[in-house]
Amino acid sequence: MLKNGNGAANFKESHGYIIDGVWYPRVTSIVNIKAKPALYRFYGSVQSFAEGEAIKNRSAEEGTLIHEAVQNFMVGKAVSPDPRTEPSIKALKSFLEAKHIQFVPEWIERRILSFKERYAGTIDALALIDGKFGVLDIKTSQEIYRDFNLQTAAYFDALNESVEGLQTRWILRIDQVQMCLSCGAKRRIKGGREKIRNNGVYCRHNEWSEVVGQVELKEFPHWADDYRAFLAAKKLWEWENENYLKAIGYLR
Ligand SMILES: [Zn+2]
Repeated sequence: MLKNGNGAANFKESHGYIIDGVWYPRVTSIVNIKAKPALYRFYGSVQSFAEGEAIKNRSAEEGTLIHEAVQNFMVGKAVSPDPRTEPSIKALKSFLEAKHIQFVPEWIERRILSFKERYAGTIDALALIDGKFGVLDIKTSQEIYRDFNLQTAAYFDALNESVEGLQTRWILRIDQVQMCLSCGAKRRIKGGREKIRNNGVYCRHNEWSEVVGQVELKEFPHWADDYRAFLAAKKLWEWENENYLKAIGYLR
């Protein structure tokens, strides 16, 4: 954050959307108030804070690249194949076909707004899966973290104000790994850093498959409790940013 007189203006720009002339905070900014213990462990495992930042930023760029490729694929946009994202797209394509997953085209990457609680966000998709209709969010993380439920609960409740028949939420996780040809361990390179996982068993083989995409889908139907937690996080976020939010006119 810049420490000049434009603090509130910068805050407004980076933490919210203006919709019909009114500023609303972003769901993703609000949920960032929750501490992530795994992040402290990560910073503790690298040489310096600067190195940690560099890895984290590179990894975020890689995630964004895959996320954008997935969005383009979902809306049927023709883009020239990128070897950095091809494995994900290929895996996603067969996953969607095998599970007969359908998307509502006009609800792909769309802005949502809660008038009631005054926040906004961008959903990845509304989907129809196994006869159920719900909110689907795409992640490129190594795991499906419970924290994601705060974000999707906020989307769910905002959409529930205007969309009929919403029943559930899903996280669709897409990842790219190499498999050990001998033991099945998985190797990920994220942000330039290598991670090998094999359920705690040490892999010493060092012969890897080509990069393959992996897709995991998980349903989180019980959103009400997550939504209460989101509102509590929002309250804490408002408390922490009270000065900016008053300067913007969001809080009195
Ligand atoms: Zn191995």
